[in-house]
Amino acid sequence: MIDYNKIEVQIRLDNLRHNHRLFKRICDNVIPVIKSDAYGHGVAEVARALDDEAGTFAVGFVNEAAKLRESGCDKRIVALLGPHDDGDFEALWQHRILAAMANMGQLEKAAKMAETKGELEVSVKFDTGMRRLGFRPEGVGEVIEFFKAHPKLKPVMVTSHLAKADMPEHKAQVQEQGTLFQSIVDAFREAGFAVEANLSNSAGSMAHEYCHYDSLRLGISMYGGNPFHGTDWADLGKELKPAMDVSAPVMQVHPLKKGEGISYGWTHVAERDCTVAIIGVGYADNYSRGLSNTGYMNIKGHRVPILGRVCMQMTAVDVTDVLGVGTKVEPGDRAWLLGGPEPGIITPEDLAGWWGTITYEAFCLLGMNPRTYI
Ligand SMILES: *Cc1c(COP(=O)(O)O)cnc(C)c1O
Repeated sequence: MIDYNKIEVQIRLDNLRHNHRLFKRICDNVIPVIKSDAYGHGVAEVARALDDEAGTFAVGFVNEAAKLRESGCDKRIVALLGPHDDGDFEALWQHRILAAMANMGQLEKAAKMAETKGELEVSVKFDTGMRRLGFRPEGVGEVIEFFKAHPKLKPVMVTSHLAKADMPEHKAQVQEQGTLFQSIVDAFREAGFAVEANLSNSAGSMAHEYCHYDSLRLGISMYGGNPFHGTDWADLGKELKPAMDVSAPVMQVHPLKKGEGISYGWTHVAERDCTVAIIGVGYADNYSRGLSNTGYMNIKGHRVPILGRVCMQMTAVDVTDVLGVGTKVEPGDRAWLLGGPEPGIITPEDLAGWWGTITYEAFCLLGMNPRTYI
């Protein structure tokens, strides 16, 4: 957590609950994905806010899961990335973590420990197309035989991850992954294992009904990011409400005369007499230097363009047009990097677009700044 600045990240927990409920309409079992500090929204706070609505939470590493358990969460916790060292394996029993097992080494180690520590429920991850973690679908028979031979390890969930669920033009490949996944689930059930089938992320949940299965893993859309932004299917996300607003202080307001350059390298030179505001945010606050001369902030509902380079702790914006309509801008005012007042509200997709990234990264990085909850 960054602790040396004057940035404020405001999290609207009501909007998270609103987004979560939109998905409860399509599936009873919606698992909030709160890995990486809940995409910058705060893992303990988000888990508490959804405690009445969710029966399971998903994080990435087992140590995140253990931390969530220690924060007081007593719901089922899934560790999507599985166990990787001795501490992780110990934590599966100690903190009752349902880890996604993705290779034989993990199963063998867990089965050996189960001999002394007792039964352990596990999720089994198959690689139906991501080519990151998981058993290959053709290995399903071998995996099932392993579970039959090691009854103290209980497979209660079968999971996989969609590579192209957010790309309307690739729906045939989503279908191929779905078909492969179905065959794996069938094999487990035919072998007598009553597994929960779990496939979809946000985009899969929104657009691919046959991928819903028994539970959904809901990440970006719960935070109000629309995975279909910029595609023909963008309307699928029209009810989502972003939950993160980020602001920084106006430090000084002064004229920039026609012909004067501003900030390092004078990469912007004023084409007219104008007025600039210096804002107390920079790349040390995870506000990317890539926004130099391309991004916008929102001051009192007005979009103001970034002039010149984003510095370590400061960024200049052009407020001439704001003053032109009679709105004052003074030290002590707030400039919004994300969200802010209408009509200049900056959506996560706007910011990610100027930044040259995706909403996920913008949330994770800006969310490392000091947060308040409303
Ligand atoms: C992060 C993650 C998700 C959530 O994806 P979104 O696109 O944010 O909904 C789901 N499943 C796995 C395995 C993940 O790592």
